[in-house]
Amino acid sequence: MIVAENVEKRFGDALVLKRVNLRVEPGEVVTILGASGSGKSTLIRCINGLETLSGGKITVDGHDVSTKAGLVAARRASATVFQLFNLYPHMTALRNITLAPIEVLKLPKAEAEARARALLDKVGLGAHADAYPQQLSGGQRQRVGICRALAMQPRYLLLDEVTSALDPEMTGDVLRILAELAADGTTMVFVTHEIEFARHISSRIVFLEQGELIVDLPTAQFFAEDGGLAVRRIRQFLSKMK
Ligand code: ADP
Ligand code: MG
Repeated sequence: MIVAENVEKRFGDALVLKRVNLRVEPGEVVTILGASGSGKSTLIRCINGLETLSGGKITVDGHDVSTKAGLVAARRASATVFQLFNLYPHMTALRNITLAPIEVLKLPKAEAEARARALLDKVGLGAHADAYPQQLSGGQRQRVGICRALAMQPRYLLLDEVTSALDPEMTGDVLRILAELAADGTTMVFVTHEIEFARHISSRIVFLEQGELIVDLPTAQFFAEDGGLAVRRIRQFLSKMK
């Protein structure tokens, strides 16, 4: 499980995460909502060890990500899919997916490829294994990105606005895959503006405001009519985003 305790992150003079506390249990889908610049990506990057903390502590399965051994263990436990299509352009979809399993997990090539093909089939891209990223649509590339993350057999999937650069139709394709993963019990931390989708797949919703985690509620409670002041403010924020 992922545990963030009193996490602080500073960039120069700016405190962009302020004593953030978050726990993600196995099997949960936690959605992080918040305005642009509220610190969502920074929190994800702290969890996967891409940023060093200015204060507090993050452990993944008990491993402190601020230690070298802990970081290796945490990176092994989680895989991240980012907003932009960060596939290697000179490699086929299949090679993008098999690279890390072969290099890092030391899987035999044939086994890594068989698994990659099974993942591509699962996301409806079985016929595109040999395509290069520029031959794929944005939505297809993002689905390859999800396969690449899953190929590392992570216990946690971190997803940072994976649909925000996609048109509605492609967004639907990617969200369908994520809904299936959630139904299979994949643990996810999901940054999104797709509020209706978040409502559908999340077990919990947290809301960041200027680096502060001001709401952390079970999804049903978050959307309850009498959710209280914090929730009313967030609804106001969400209605302005549409
Ligand atoms: P979000 O993902 O919610 O839009 P971010 O986590 O990207 O927000 O950013 C939070 C704040 O931290 C913003 O004010 C942003 O400008 C700042 N920030 C993010 N990364 C850096 C960085 N590498 N250097 C300086 N400031 C940064
Ligand atoms: Mg962001």
